[in-house]
Amino acid sequence: MSRPDKAGRLPLRYHGTFTLFVPKDYETAIDQVKELNEKYGSDRLHIDTMKIFHVGVIETRTADMFDDYLDTPGNSGESLFSEAQLHDLIIDLSKEGINLRVHSVGDKSTNKVLNAVERDHKTLGGPPPIRIAICHLEAVLETDFYRFKDLGVIASFTPAWHGNVGDHNVYAAIGDKAWSQMRAQPMIADDAVVTFSSDITTTHEWRDEAANPGHGMQIGHNRQPVEGVPMHAMPNRAASGSGSIRWSMATRSTMLTSWPVGRAGVDRSGQAGRPGHPEPEPVRGESL
Ligand SMILES: [Zn+2]
Repeated sequence: MSRPDKAGRLPLRYHGTFTLFVPKDYETAIDQVKELNEKYGSDRLHIDTMKIFHVGVIETRTADMFDDYLDTPGNSGESLFSEAQLHDLIIDLSKEGINLRVHSVGDKSTNKVLNAVERDHKTLGGPPPIRIAICHLEAVLETDFYRFKDLGVIASFTPAWHGNVGDHNVYAAIGDKAWSQMRAQPMIADDAVVTFSSDITTTHEWRDEAANPGHGMQIGHNRQPVEGVPMHAMPNRAASGSGSIRWSMATRSTMLTSWPVGRAGVDRSGQAGRPGHPEPEPVRGESL
């Protein structure tokens, strides 16, 4: 990304993340983000976000849930950080202006993050001055849906995963809850900031276009997995502006990693909702 940027060929603003996989990395993580940004950062390229892998996934029974997995009694998964550690992490990141994205699949891990942010509001006397997003949100406590807006936390869904709702493996793990996974509508109706993101874990997915934001947009719009047609063969409806929903999805799905150059109101910290940093319109009117 730095190469086209230095050559003056980066046509958008790009916010890169540093990924924290294990707790011991935390000691050097903030310094590493800053070092990367010093080395590669520019007015278009920013390494200004930390992503933490807070939990595993339901398929491996490692997402942190309130209830035990049905087929592994005594196991309800676990989180990388405690609520207190998350609170302190957000304070440290706030001091450095580094944004936070949290991979959170289980209802308990998401509850922990929201509790930590709530405590940060009290510690700081207001919302943390950074962007905080919780990603994937497969299982969310009924009462937690309505905390995202109040706490200013971005609800980030992964449309490419929506095709897995009711998957037999997940059903064996969480039973009927499998039918109400990944519900975006309560947050959309509550006017919280909801984003749609791509998600890839293997190099092979770079090639089969799962990383293409259009892939998630297509699923978000049609509500079914993309099958058979390579993404590059699909008409670029989002760019044509032919539908407001598609266009807003295009905006939302890319907002945390890139931004068309020239878009006013987004500074290097990517802070939203502050004077001079207007938020784009949230996705409205359709549910997943
Ligand atoms: Zn993730």
